[in-house]
Amino acid sequence: MENNGFTNHPYCNPYRRNFPLLAENPLIYLDSAATAQKPACVLQAEREFYERYNANPMRGFYALSVEATERVEEARKAVRRFLNAPPEGEVIFTRNTTESLNLVAYSYGLSRLKAGDEIVVSIMEHHSNLLPWQMVARQTGARLKFLECGADGRITQERLNEAFSERTKLVAVAHVSNVLGCENPVARIAAMAKERGAVLVVDAAQSAPHMPVDVQALGADFLAFSGHKLMGPMGIGVLYGRRELLEEMPPFLTGGEMIDSVTRTGAVFAPVPYKFEAGTVNAAGAWGLKEAIRYLEAVGFEAVHRQELALTTMALEGLRQIPHVKVLGSEKAEEHCGILTFTVDGVHPHDVSAILDADGIAVRAGNHCAQPLFDFLKVNAATRASIYFYNTQEEIAALLRSVAGIRRKMG
Ligand code: PLP
Repeated sequence: MENNGFTNHPYCNPYRRNFPLLAENPLIYLDSAATAQKPACVLQAEREFYERYNANPMRGFYALSVEATERVEEARKAVRRFLNAPPEGEVIFTRNTTESLNLVAYSYGLSRLKAGDEIVVSIMEHHSNLLPWQMVARQTGARLKFLECGADGRITQERLNEAFSERTKLVAVAHVSNVLGCENPVARIAAMAKERGAVLVVDAAQSAPHMPVDVQALGADFLAFSGHKLMGPMGIGVLYGRRELLEEMPPFLTGGEMIDSVTRTGAVFAPVPYKFEAGTVNAAGAWGLKEAIRYLEAVGFEAVHRQELALTTMALEGLRQIPHVKVLGSEKAEEHCGILTFTVDGVHPHDVSAILDADGIAVRAGNHCAQPLFDFLKVNAATRASIYFYNTQEEIAALLRSVAGIRRKMG
């Protein structure tokens, strides 16, 4: 893997050439928090599945189907290792983080929560980790409580004490915010949840691409992430869960693949994890995800972090110097996880994004599927530039030049 000292060279990033879309396109891609670009090895792995192993996994007894099944199980093993899953934990393949979180809400939430119970969610949750719990609260009579943060995203012990009570039965929290980029004190939250016998659901969509995610160190009962945000294919996601909980839970979706036997009136469900994988799994996606994990680990989280921090520092310092620009969240670059969400006074983020697009820069604008956080911060909407290790200092310099010219362009 070519990672030797590339951060010493301001305009050189050898990883870029691993990404066909970036290598062949002058686009400045600063929307990796929405979805990451894919290295050639991941594209090849997905293709390889269809060229060499394509058969319906889990169904056939012939050699090719067994091979397809083995690819899925190898991928599952890779994810287990990636998450440091203990023997008493299990990995379920889903479509994405949203489906993983809905699986927990529909299956665990609806069957285990009741009126009077409390569900704690942070104010900065992505709608994918909020709407499922709103649904559970509506249907069970449980109460949804919000864990608030400071303007810098920090969740203090005081706020935690306010949000938790003896009635807390489930806590759902993002490991890293997709708006502020802050890392939440998940291990501390896990300890408080455990004291009260509550389960902890962690949304690792924004952390898994950037830092080691260790379900044991975090104390997560459930944890979700999306393959596409860590350079894997779209349409493959992961739910980690403690087997003890998963075994007690009813299936989320029913149909083929998730049963041991069926009669006219009922069914015996397959064991975990298959009970939660109804229908044909995205085997090629799982194989691509395994390759994405291999690639990410070959680059190494240390190198990823080093490059992201250098670029985030440059972007944060530069944006702060531009009049009328405000960056949401912490003043410290190391508390942004490559995410810089900002406003430009008097200019709607959609216009900011359109002007940046005209300069060949892709960013996201709006409320970033986190409307309650925007209401809480009293900000209407914002523009988000999100950095990954394949970005360069040249690209950040272009971003800063473009942002500096926005108000002039708007007249
Ligand atoms: N959670 C967070 C923190 C996210 O940033 C996102 C996507 O932006 C999601 C959940 C949803 O991910 P997906 O659309 O892959 O289900």
